[in-house]
Amino acid sequence: MDNCIFCKIIRGEIPGKFIHREGEWVAFYDISPKAPIHVLIVPTSHIESIADVHDSDGVLLGNLLLAAKKIAQKLKIDKSGFKLIINNGKGSGQIVPHLHIHLLGGWGKNPEWKV
Ligand code: AMP
Repeated sequence: MDNCIFCKIIRGEIPGKFIHREGEWVAFYDISPKAPIHVLIVPTSHIESIADVHDSDGVLLGNLLLAAKKIAQKLKIDKSGFKLIINNGKGSGQIVPHLHIHLLGGWGKNPEWKV
């Protein structure tokens, strides 16, 4: 989508600190981290939120969760623990209307996380 910030990052029109790129999803660091490790897992196709997915998106949605596992392993937070968050709609705090999973972790022995 032309004016979508995440579509622009995926197309390389604005910079993103990528961890991984794959056909149907990418992972890059959040520009304003809310945890010691804060990564966004983002489908390359423009879907606004979970409220907009169809039955035919089931495989993609499963692959996004598998992507989160892979990135957690890559960043070595799979054993210590990590949190996945998806905001859906303005009322939930979604700012960027392009579906993304927040992957948060790396708190170590002094967790400061809040739900
Ligand atoms: P949400 O509130 O779920 O829509 O989350 C959007 C996230 O995108 C926020 O955590 C922002 O810090 C992050 N964000 C916004 N712009 C950028 C950017 N250019 N690069 C990386 N992350 C971004």
